[in-house]
Amino acid sequence: MLHLDAARRERLNRSPRRAAFYCGAASALRDALRGRGSELIVSRGGAPEIECLAREARAATVVWAAEYDAAAAAAHRSLQAELEEAGLRATIVHDAPVVAPEDAAAARSADGGLGYRAFVPYVNVWREAIRAPVAGRVDFTDVGLATQALPRPEDFGGEPLADPPSEAAASAAMDAFLAGPVLHYLTARNVPADATSQLSAHLSFGTLSARTLVACLNERARDRFLLAEERLSLDAYRRVLALRDFFFQLAWFFEAHPDQALQERMRHFPFAREHAGLDAWREGRTGYPLVDAGIRELAATGRMHPRARAVAASFLCFDLGLDWRIGRDAWDGQLIEDEPALATGNWQWIAGVGADLAQFPRIYNPQKQARTLDPRGAYVRRWIPELAALPAGRGSPLRPPPGQLALPLFSAPTYPPPVVEHEEAAREFLRRYVDFVATRR
Ligand SMILES: Cc1cc2nc3c(=O)[nH]c(=O)nc-3n(C[C@H](O)[C@H](O)[C@H](O)COP(=O)(O)OP(=O)(O)OC[C@H]3O[C@@H](n4cnc5c(N)ncnc54)[C@H](O)[C@@H]3O)c2cc1C
Repeated sequence: MLHLDAARRERLNRSPRRAAFYCGAASALRDALRGRGSELIVSRGGAPEIECLAREARAATVVWAAEYDAAAAAAHRSLQAELEEAGLRATIVHDAPVVAPEDAAAARSADGGLGYRAFVPYVNVWREAIRAPVAGRVDFTDVGLATQALPRPEDFGGEPLADPPSEAAASAAMDAFLAGPVLHYLTARNVPADATSQLSAHLSFGTLSARTLVACLNERARDRFLLAEERLSLDAYRRVLALRDFFFQLAWFFEAHPDQALQERMRHFPFAREHAGLDAWREGRTGYPLVDAGIRELAATGRMHPRARAVAASFLCFDLGLDWRIGRDAWDGQLIEDEPALATGNWQWIAGVGADLAQFPRIYNPQKQARTLDPRGAYVRRWIPELAALPAGRGSPLRPPPGQLALPLFSAPTYPPPVVEHEEAAREFLRRYVDFVATRR
């Protein structure tokens, strides 16, 4: 059954691309179920509609998957209470993570624990808690319930995808990644190109199960002919999947944190809400090519390379001194993935107010990062047409020669000068940070 509650509809409304992916996956699921002699029951509304369906199906128990976002979690709790009051059993299961939050937390204390605020101790427990997916045969049947119309991308301001997502497409993408690219992940993830797995949307919408992915990854690691670097790459990939679960359990146990810094001492840090450079950041016109390339990749595709995300987010928080929530919410409207917990966890991490316990904020230098991650400027040229014609190689377009590009002879749009001077802005931020932390000791 596919139930479209208000929290889900709101998140689909925020990003037409997300809606297109979700609706495509729903349609593929219906086709797959029909192929097995069953039907996808679509419903909208709240507890009364679900109760009604349960009664019609003569079901005694309603089971559904947890979500890791405060609004959805609150809605699920009240749904559970209402169904139980109506005499049904209502069970929420953890379908998205590899390891359920309580399973990792249980290792911490006998009473189920309270979750982990730091990643390093979590990841060791996570490895131990992994269980192989249960292999079982499920027989489907059509119980003859009336179904509503499938959600359509147009309902949320989107358009149908030419290449709709499906379980088969996700499996093929996973197999292709595990066959070769994963063995180079350790280095490839530092190059903003297409060499990471790009499975986040499939993981987010369940067209690929994270448990299956980890099981296949572990199977891959059983190859006795792997070289040492290849094993390290498999391990690095396993670690980012653990990071995904880590952020889910943070959202699960520390529910207040979507809008509140996890670190108590940083809750009142005066991040600004306005800056003259904010629009330039939103539009990828900061004058820092790596930042702008990432933001334009997102605008064009609904994805952004993980490393570019970190540099562009750092730029918003430290170079512009802006509130991390502004950045998170700006990207939410463009991303395909639907992962509030991962968005919040990562933005807080970058802003130095979340689970990363580094003593000082990790301020990225956008020019040095460009030199390291994109030394030939391939990524920057790909996403910034104004810089596409600059010569390749050393001399990556870290900063274009200003006079030349501004010549009115060229009708093509010119690339803007930097909105702030990085060194100056970063030092000014650090000064404010150190002063603030000193008052909190
Ligand atoms: C500032 C910032 C904001 C982010 N916002 C989101 C978001 O809104 N939604 C989202 O799904 N991811 C977010 N991420 C995490 C990560 O960037 C994306 O999941 C990744 O870009 C997806 O690309 P991939 O599938 O090729 O990743 P790979 O590098 O191939 O990683 C494999 C999978 O591991 C998980 N993963 C990888 N990195 C992270 C991470 N840092 N945190 C949690 N899980 C991770 C993802 O599910 C990913 O698909 C954010 C990262 C940063 C730095």
